[in-house]
Amino acid sequence: MRWGSGSVSGDMTRTAVLALLARRGPLSRAQIADLLQMSPATITQSTKRLLTEGLLVEQAPRPSPAGRPSIPLSLVPESAHTVGIQVAHEHVTGVISQLDAEVVHSFRQDFDPAAPDAVATLTALIRSEIDELERRRLPLAGVGVAVPGIVEPETGTLRMSVRLGWTGLPLAARLREDLGVPVFVDNDISAVTAAERLYGPGADEADFLLAAIGQGIGLGMVLDGAPYRGAAGAAGEFGHMPVQTDGPICVCGNRGCLESLVSTEALLRNAQAAGIVPDEADLDDLGSLARTGDRAAAKLLETAGTLLGRALAGVINLLGPRSVVVIGEITALWDLLSDPLHRVLLEHLLPAVRETRIEVRPWDDKLIAVSAARVVLGAPLAAPRQKG
Ligand SMILES: [Zn+2]
Repeated sequence: MRWGSGSVSGDMTRTAVLALLARRGPLSRAQIADLLQMSPATITQSTKRLLTEGLLVEQAPRPSPAGRPSIPLSLVPESAHTVGIQVAHEHVTGVISQLDAEVVHSFRQDFDPAAPDAVATLTALIRSEIDELERRRLPLAGVGVAVPGIVEPETGTLRMSVRLGWTGLPLAARLREDLGVPVFVDNDISAVTAAERLYGPGADEADFLLAAIGQGIGLGMVLDGAPYRGAAGAAGEFGHMPVQTDGPICVCGNRGCLESLVSTEALLRNAQAAGIVPDEADLDDLGSLARTGDRAAAKLLETAGTLLGRALAGVINLLGPRSVVVIGEITALWDLLSDPLHRVLLEHLLPAVRETRIEVRPWDDKLIAVSAARVVLGAPLAAPRQKG
């Protein structure tokens, strides 16, 4: 596994060791060094500190073919907990994760980001989770908050969120001051991407993209082992790729952005406007209709698959990832989008990138909160310079 440099700073070895043990279970120092492609001396030094801190324990020695018995190291799951929060435009989802990345508690609550006391409400929600941990005498390592919008990686300040209607909000600093604990704030797709790199099936991949397609469309990028955020933390606005001249108006104010055509919101809106589904219909209704042979519904989704395929082909040709992970509400319709999408990919992908895998994950509405909790366990990779 390669660990890129550049945007990554802080104790990456520590993060990598903790994430590897969470994914793979007990491993000897030699196995850790081997899997992380780091020197045995570095791993010995890092695990020594983690043992002293009580985050790791040594298990009983196992006989090893090389002669000397090997001592597996394992995580102490309850030695650290993190709170992960997803702030969305209608609700807040939260989880508590322990050090082995297992979720031990979760909640979801209605939330109105436009309310004058929205940040105070959010703070109170997080506070009650911290209180619960304190009551149970469980140690807290930090809080991760994922928001839709552009977040400065260095400060955790939300520069702009169209969905929440928040602009120039120093959210990390506010929460840190009010809660008195380490807080990291990140863009929601960046949080999922960093968590995937550390804890997910994409952990062994040094070059992958994560396309999140739901009400909005975003792209997480891991290039040469490190998350790519762009000069101002604003990279990955895949949804605002211009794809149609004089297309519908997008939430960003421009016309014909990808998001204005194939987000789940756009698909439903278009289906309703064309009278394919009634106004109160949801995405499942549209999918069911297409599956039962409704020509107009199937055609609408075929067009969406084609548009999405063209946009993805452009990105894959540009960045050359090994794989593209697709997440989000749209995956419920993937059986209907997949054929046209793959047809277009085949047409447009250059020979050198034709092997790129498209991996579609079933949508889990806790994924963003879980990822926010996990990036705190792996803070240096996710939020290199935010000070806790
Ligand atoms: Zn746009």
